Amino acid sequence: MKLYMQVMIALGLGLKRNWHIFAGLILGIFAGVWLHTNQNPIIMNALTFIGQLFIRLIQMVVIPLVISAIVIGITSIGDSKQLGKLGTKMICYYAIITTIAVALGAGLALLIKPGLGAAAYINSDVATGIQAQVAATIESQKGNLLNLILGFVPKNPLAAVASGEMVPIIVFAVMFSVALARVGEINRPFVSFFESIFAATMKITDWIMCFAAPGVFALTAIAVSAFGIDIFMAISKYLGVLALGFGIQLFVVYPVFLRIFSKVPVWMLYAAIAEAMMVAFGTASSSATLPLTIACCEKRGISHKVTSFVIPLGATLNMDGTALLQVVAVIFLAQAYGIALTPLIIVQVALLAIVASSTSAGIPGAGLITIALVLNGLGLSPEQLVAGFAFLFTIERITDMMRTLVNVTSDAVVAAAIADNENEINYDLLNNPESYNDVIE
Ligand code: ASP
Repeated sequence: MKLYMQVMIALGLGLKRNWHIFAGLILGIFAGVWLHTNQNPIIMNALTFIGQLFIRLIQMVVIPLVISAIVIGITSIGDSKQLGKLGTKMICYYAIITTIAVALGAGLALLIKPGLGAAAYINSDVATGIQAQVAATIESQKGNLLNLILGFVPKNPLAAVASGEMVPIIVFAVMFSVALARVGEINRPFVSFFESIFAATMKITDWIMCFAAPGVFALTAIAVSAFGIDIFMAISKYLGVLALGFGIQLFVVYPVFLRIFSKVPVWMLYAAIAEAMMVAFGTASSSATLPLTIACCEKRGISHKVTSFVIPLGATLNMDGTALLQVVAVIFLAQAYGIALTPLIIVQVALLAIVASSTSAGIPGAGLITIALVLNGLGLSPEQLVAGFAFLFTIERITDMMRTLVNVTSDAVVAAAIADNENEINYDLLNNPESYNDVIE
């Protein structure tokens, strides 16, 4: 083998897994741009297979992991007063971060006005292909808030597990775990059982992550290939506002938040969760990334007690990136169609986005379904609604990748802040990037 090849291989093997995934992501973008102009069905099929295999593997461990994490987390907190305190703090922190996200989204969209003159792009021709899907989405969300909330309580927890509905699963798991914590020592065999499940699912996560670099490469290439540079130019202002909003959230809001509420060094935290951030971007799914988010946080010193409670709930309920997108998208459509945005409408849109985003599942595209809830009160005609929706669908994947990265990061930010407040963080581990392995011991 040529010397430079040997050096490259040695470098590749010596680098942390973070860098492999990062390389996969960058190469995926290039491959996607190339594939957009050179549609090659064989390559596309191969990439789709690799991407789907990765997502399915990682999704496979989510439900056992979430249930076991919640059982262990809540029973280890034990006393219901401390649990109440932790739960309240978690909800307040998530609410603060999401409120800032919607305010930021609204502010940027009103200031930059990405929707002005965009009606020409929101082309109803595009709509025809996906009209049925759009109409069904709009219909399914009409006046549905109470039903949505009702759906959070599972009639049959096993059915919820079988169909993978995360919110009902979490509602049951939390109640069940609180009850287990209350019954005292008798819960030991059951908790030990879940401790074994948790340890085994984390081990499987580790194995799956060896496949993360090709998985992220394939998923990114497919997403970018569908996108094309032409549409990018046409709506660059809209995408620019989103990217700016997500960037401010990541590089200004979270650092300031951590500064105010904890002493967690933000860069160390980002280094710790880099793998989870990249997998979130590649998979566009907070739920699929969940095992990795927990693993990254725990390997770098955030206690199991905090991660196992705060992160699964965050991956399902905390969607600040989604909320930001929903506000920007709705204001964009209103501007495009010349609908007057009174302060009252803007506040209504912001509040609805907070609710709609947190009812979105942590799966690709969920935020674009619940956006119907936010759009309903805006006064768009049915045709405008369908065309607007169809437009959002055409650029969905790329915005989903960005907002999922934000959603996942904020889960870890809140977990780190709470761990700091509760003395549940090992700063020696967090501040020392050399001290951890890619592999969970
Ligand atoms: N894909 C996002 C997530 O998993 C949800 C959304 O569609 O906004 O966090």
